Amino acid sequence: MSETVYQLGNSLYLNITNRCTNRCVFCIRNFTDRVGDKKLVLHKEPSSLEIIESLKKIDLRLYKEVVFCGFGEPLIRVEVVKKISSFIKHSYPSTPIRIDTNGHGNIFNQRNIVPEISPYIDAISISLNAESKEKYNRLSRPIFSDAYEAVIEFIKVSKMHIKDVTVSVVNLPIVDIKKCEKIAEDLKVNFKLRDFVRSL
Ligand code: SF4
Repeated sequence: MSETVYQLGNSLYLNITNRCTNRCVFCIRNFTDRVGDKKLVLHKEPSSLEIIESLKKIDLRLYKEVVFCGFGEPLIRVEVVKKISSFIKHSYPSTPIRIDTNGHGNIFNQRNIVPEISPYIDAISISLNAESKEKYNRLSRPIFSDAYEAVIEFIKVSKMHIKDVTVSVVNLPIVDIKKCEKIAEDLKVNFKLRDFVRSL
């Protein structure tokens, strides 16, 4: 296990980048450089080959799921996500793969990447973060001016291609949780309220 492949609970997490198109005020990276005893600050982004070599030493059947998450936005490296996921699905067809994403994948890559990842991905968790664009911009401070609209569109497209779609919101006093739940309900996706954590 390393800063790129680490265990949390019964899941195996892949930390493939520290880059992100948001600067969320609640991001765990503002408070710590690690999860548990694992330092997640990368000195160099791992190649898909390096991650695959690490995974070859692990019996993935021992884990409930493999999750692309870590200290950054995984879909910034969509080609790496596809190569690693393809390896996992080929070697362990019954191991579920989840992506935790900020939902900027299409706007960042300037194309619809969901059909490219959906053959490998069993579940996707998309950070909605707020019930309005104005609040989203204050909380997540995205680099894109139309990020909130892009996130909503990403949720809709994900719903068309991926079986298990969840939107998540961090439980902060400024966020109208009920309105966020209603957005999830209208989009016919699962809703998850996440605790605000400074460390794990
Ligand atoms: S989208 Fe995630 S990784 Fe990026 S700044 Fe927000 S909480 Fe941090």
